[in-house]
Amino acid sequence: MALLNEHFLKLKGSYLFSDIAKKVKAYQVTHPGEQIIRLGIGDVTRPLPQASIEAMHRAVDEMASSATFHGYGPEQGYDFLIETIIKHDFAPRGIQLSPSEVFISDGAKSDTGNIGELLRWDNSMGITDPVYPAYIDSNVMCGRAGTLGEDGRWSNITYLPCTAENNFVPAIPNHRIDLLYLCYPNNPTGTTLTRDQLKQWVDYALANDTLIIFDAAYEAYIHDDDVPHSIYEIRGAKKVAIEIRSFSKTAGFTGVRCGYTVVPKEVTAATLDDERVPLNPLWNRRQCTKFNGTSYITQRGAEAVYSPEGRAQVKETIAYYMENARTMREGLTRAGYRVFGGINAPYLWVQAPEGMTSWKFFDELLYRAHIVSTPGVGFGPSGEGYLRLTAFGKREDCEEAIRRIGKL
Ligand code: PLP
Repeated sequence: MALLNEHFLKLKGSYLFSDIAKKVKAYQVTHPGEQIIRLGIGDVTRPLPQASIEAMHRAVDEMASSATFHGYGPEQGYDFLIETIIKHDFAPRGIQLSPSEVFISDGAKSDTGNIGELLRWDNSMGITDPVYPAYIDSNVMCGRAGTLGEDGRWSNITYLPCTAENNFVPAIPNHRIDLLYLCYPNNPTGTTLTRDQLKQWVDYALANDTLIIFDAAYEAYIHDDDVPHSIYEIRGAKKVAIEIRSFSKTAGFTGVRCGYTVVPKEVTAATLDDERVPLNPLWNRRQCTKFNGTSYITQRGAEAVYSPEGRAQVKETIAYYMENARTMREGLTRAGYRVFGGINAPYLWVQAPEGMTSWKFFDELLYRAHIVSTPGVGFGPSGEGYLRLTAFGKREDCEEAIRRIGKL
């Protein structure tokens, strides 16, 4: 008889989006014909950059002839993409990486979920709260999160609250954590850390021998100069941080699937005998064993994101989403709401009126303005009293949503 990994049984069902869907359905039944605006989803809506489309068409044509056909590629990704990434995403910021430090993947979710395989199950861990749920659930699956308490918190996780009270800057804990997840620009709050604020976390990690998993999936939305694009802009970070990136929100690759992870050669973890072991060769071994590479066609599409045309097209799409964010942010503020995020990220984090829960606020927007949002409490205990709105919708929908909210 095969014995189960019983940690899977500890996982709470992911009810958030199905609960939202049920509520929206119930509303539609009782209010047929009402035009609903969906600002809850975290998926993009604009098409891929034309440069990527053309590159992928060419790659498909290559597959049609045995002279140019590509079968299995390198598990780590093709050099043409790795070198382009280093040249455009890191070198201009003074970050030197060797090609063997960059691993192309099928997206950031797989890498954030899988990277923990390199570490023992009994490491302590920390997350910012509210949080992208995959960080917690992937650690529950291997037993690292501990047990779920009545307060909705896992016993082996340090929660670092990010709320209006601390301006969404997590306080440095006064104890050590082995493994820390940071996501900036942040999903769900849309907030960022300045270079000085991120430096404090890198210094904490250096002083406490903490490994940071830095998720920079929304890096392309940064436009303020004092917000770092990569954790490696901070001195010493190469010793303590793994950075994960994605083409999903940068270039509309949510359905195409491509991302990458940087594992610097200097990053190590300890054996029980206190021997330091570099994680880079172990991640390489893990990928070679369990992953057969991102498709050639996809990697050609990702490479084209960095061409002059691709960059211009990406810039235009991001400007479109960020204009949505600006419209919503200003409209909500005019209507008297406290709004956070939406400046260097495509998410707005809206505070509910005094004393109102996330779900009550969600219902208010649905029933009185016919707008679908995401209740903040679904992202963690510190999300209670907030809602997430995304800027990934159509411009006219964002404008109409603001008109409706203004009339409430
Ligand atoms: N990380 C964060 C913070 C995200 O919000 C998302 C997607 O919403 C992902 C990772 C997943 O990205 P990918 O599509 O590359 O798997």
